[in-house]
Amino acid sequence: MEALTSRAKAVDRKPMTFLERLYLWNILKGMIITFSHIFKKKPTIQYPEVKRPFSPVFRGLHVLNRDEEGRERCTACGLCAVACPAEAITMEAAERLPGEENLYREEKYAAKYEINMLRCIFCGLCEEACPKDAIYLSETFAPANFNRKGFVYGKDNLLIPNPTTQPEATAKAKGLN
Ligand code: SF4
Ligand code: SF4
Repeated sequence: MEALTSRAKAVDRKPMTFLERLYLWNILKGMIITFSHIFKKKPTIQYPEVKRPFSPVFRGLHVLNRDEEGRERCTACGLCAVACPAEAITMEAAERLPGEENLYREEKYAAKYEINMLRCIFCGLCEEACPKDAIYLSETFAPANFNRKGFVYGKDNLLIPNPTTQPEATAKAKGLN
């Protein structure tokens, strides 16, 4: 039969020599490999004190963004939910009332906005679909949880802290420190 690749190797069935039967050489080879690693740079890091830098294309936990005046950007248009291949996003829209101009940027806003992190595949399509720069995937990740409900993130988890009143918390949510 024709081989699919050139990686196949014929099994060597010739009897072992006396030296091979002692296994000393093989044990010695194993010890050389083990000791050679003592002098190499350790690949492990002391997490969480030390953290590895993320790849520039890393897509982590979602953040609902605010504008420079601290107003919510999301206008509950639903484009992110339509673009989401995992159907992980749900929302409920509401009309902005007079006097709420300092809270919401547009006349319509998301009264409820939820992402099911157990469904999400972190593809970033919601971010690409959003015309308001209201959602993006940050350089942090969803912390572990003990129950499934804990992975349905609402606005209380997703909305970025107000940059005008909590600049440090905003930077942390963006994964900048
Ligand atoms: S990252 Fe992808 S799967 Fe996750 S909510 Fe956004 S569009 Fe859906
Ligand atoms: S996050 Fe963006 S795309 Fe999604 S509902 Fe809000 S404004 Fe629309």
